[in-house]
Amino acid sequence: MPLAIPFDNSYARLPGPFHTRQRAAPVRAPRLIAWNAGLAEALGITGDDDAQTLARVFSGNDLPEGAAPLAQVYAGHQFGGFSPQLGDGRALLLGEVVDRAGHRRDIQLKGSGPTPYSRMGDGRAWLGPVLREYLVSEAMHAMGIPTTRALAAVATGEQVWREAGALPGAVLTRVASSHIRVGTFQYFAARRDLANLRALYDYTVARHYPHVENPAHLLSEVIGRQARLVAQWLSVGFIHGVMNTDNTAISGETIDYGPCAFMDSYHPQTVYSSIDAQGRYAYDNQANAIVWNMAQFASALVPLMPEADAAVAEFTALVHAMPDRIEAEWRTAFGAKIGIADPTPEDLVLVGDLLARMAEGRADFTNTFRALATGGARDQFRDPLAFDSWEAGWRARIAREADPLAVMRAANPVVIPRNHRVEQVIAAAVSGDLAPFERLLAVVSRPFEDLPDAADLRRPPLPSEAVSRTFCGT
Ligand code: AMP
Ligand code: MG
Repeated sequence: MPLAIPFDNSYARLPGPFHTRQRAAPVRAPRLIAWNAGLAEALGITGDDDAQTLARVFSGNDLPEGAAPLAQVYAGHQFGGFSPQLGDGRALLLGEVVDRAGHRRDIQLKGSGPTPYSRMGDGRAWLGPVLREYLVSEAMHAMGIPTTRALAAVATGEQVWREAGALPGAVLTRVASSHIRVGTFQYFAARRDLANLRALYDYTVARHYPHVENPAHLLSEVIGRQARLVAQWLSVGFIHGVMNTDNTAISGETIDYGPCAFMDSYHPQTVYSSIDAQGRYAYDNQANAIVWNMAQFASALVPLMPEADAAVAEFTALVHAMPDRIEAEWRTAFGAKIGIADPTPEDLVLVGDLLARMAEGRADFTNTFRALATGGARDQFRDPLAFDSWEAGWRARIAREADPLAVMRAANPVVIPRNHRVEQVIAAAVSGDLAPFERLLAVVSRPFEDLPDAADLRRPPLPSEAVSRTFCGT
């Protein structure tokens, strides 16, 4: 039986200005690198899943029955500056499926060739960012953080040219609950295309928020999901790196993994992205960045309201309330990290004190929190006494908790895809060895398990291994 993907394409049925129909540009020699069989099963994909078939379909060379490939248009604020037209410049929505759980999900190729929205780009991706997104998105999912997923990675057999020279090309297939972005709303709002802005609003509400009654309600719901999402990122030391409004999904999923990275030693100002010179999207600026993005979303919704002044007043109040909503999510997430199920403001003083000592003591973020439950946290600090003088107060506090160890074990991953390991597995893959990638993927897909033979993947980088810069490079 041929490979069968049960497509049901609703975005393709939206009016013409939403997208451009586009076929993938064929590649020379597609070869399957990774296939997420569990996800494929959940999506209802059946039939021949031999490596050659998958390589042809998920490179874009073969168009599967029922697909209606298209490039989506959107706009966006990139590092604060507005671009009225962006869009899928190197990606194509193959189509949607309603998965076995009844959820509609996009299947998208990334790196599949030029589109009308490619601007100066080649429409391609190289292997490095494809493997990075595969690893990090699957790790995020395994940690329980809303995210797009990785379904397949295929090497193209072609070279792509980047600053570093010629690199092996690849295509990632990702799955998202949708690819509707803040920037999609901004696109129609900036063009004053009220009819299509309304069509987008109706489509978004029907697809993601069917209980929502008006634009203010939608804004509040999206703010709620994004507040939770960013608190979850902070709780695992994740730095997205490019929180532009075109990379902020209305669904509340993490999307567009570019120069993203997890922190090793804790410092709130940590930045990895080579293009983020100002630290706009530094670790602890992410809460501000998402509030700013939600203000842009609010602006794009104003034309949908009958009376602009009243809408601005109502939306402004919602946006101004967002920091408190992030704070509440942050409190829950970080309370759990120190074993407190329902933290009070005083408990947060305890968290803040620990973080300050961690920053001072260059403590490893992941390993310090994990060691609170398993022992050895003091060894993570340059000066272990800095931990000891915090520990007494903490122990007295968690003595009043029902099961602090279980709370901490569920909140603190054992392993994250550390930046230097991601870079190492990419380097190995470029030289033809996929085994390190496969091993790292297997381990970070079970992030709360203390797997034997994975100690090297849990260890922070040696000074000689540390990677402090990441690149968009896609
Ligand atoms: P990003 O910030 O990486 O999500 O990308 C911003 C915009 O640049 C999007 O519209 C992308 O489609 C486009 N883009 C990035 N890389 C390429 C490329 N290699 N070819 C064409 N368009 C690209
Ligand atoms: Mg993007």
